[in-house]
Amino acid sequence: MKKWFFLLVILLPLGCEAIQQEPQVVIGEYSKAGDQAQEAVSQTKHQTKAQTIKVTKSQIYQGNLLLVNKQYPVRQEGVTADVANLFQHKELVKGYGLLDKTIRLSQGVAQKFQTMVDAAAKEGVRHFMISSGYRDNQEQGRLYKSMGADYALPAGYSEHNLGLSLDIGSTQTEMNRAPEGKWLQKNAWAYGFILRYPKDKTEITGIQYEPWHFRYVGLPHSAIMQEKNFTLEQYLDFLKEQKTISTTVEGKAYEVSYYPVSGNTSIPVPAGRRYERSGNNMDGVIVTLLP
Ligand SMILES: [Zn+2]
Repeated sequence: MKKWFFLLVILLPLGCEAIQQEPQVVIGEYSKAGDQAQEAVSQTKHQTKAQTIKVTKSQIYQGNLLLVNKQYPVRQEGVTADVANLFQHKELVKGYGLLDKTIRLSQGVAQKFQTMVDAAAKEGVRHFMISSGYRDNQEQGRLYKSMGADYALPAGYSEHNLGLSLDIGSTQTEMNRAPEGKWLQKNAWAYGFILRYPKDKTEITGIQYEPWHFRYVGLPHSAIMQEKNFTLEQYLDFLKEQKTISTTVEGKAYEVSYYPVSGNTSIPVPAGRRYERSGNNMDGVIVTLLP
């Protein structure tokens, strides 16, 4: 647990935008009552304005939290911009294998995966392999044609079309039984990944159990989903219902808020606070205030 803490601090957002404001102001939102006087002083001193995020409709379809399934296809703007062929980026592939030379993935996600694989190796789990990553519409179309509707999704309706999902294998045995699979089920959340199609959620996801398919969503979302045993569908519904939730992961405080978006919208966030934004691919955006 402790080791993750340090990793989490280092992990920086990818995919959706993270904006680092000058670190001059820390408004005491999270401070205790006893600190109020101090807070008032510091607020007057810096006279902070709230920053405003301008959100357009197309941002519903971009970011790490996009829901992609039979109902909500990937829009062109949702494909991660940093997809690369991993075979040609050897610096991103250390301590694990690739099924073949065609594997592509978001480079940011590959870095997170690398961090996760390194952590697993320290616990003696070291036979990971990526067997599939980003697929473009052409590849997805071919797969759908050859596998059929029971085993593949049509072009544009697979998470693999985003660049944020990957199929992870063990070079030793099938993932269901492999130490690699077990380790990931227990620990992937700490690195921002979720098991996207769990065994007990097939009615919600509409997809059979896939012990190999992981999706990057980032922290704190993966931690909340793990703790509450939520699929991405359930988590996004939960956010919509709650509007705002606060959470602490490894001692770091986050605030996650859902905003419906029907046209151009302005969303206020505390001045000086770092945040990330992602659409849900349905009807709104999620703004995450970072520690
Ligand atoms: Zn997959």
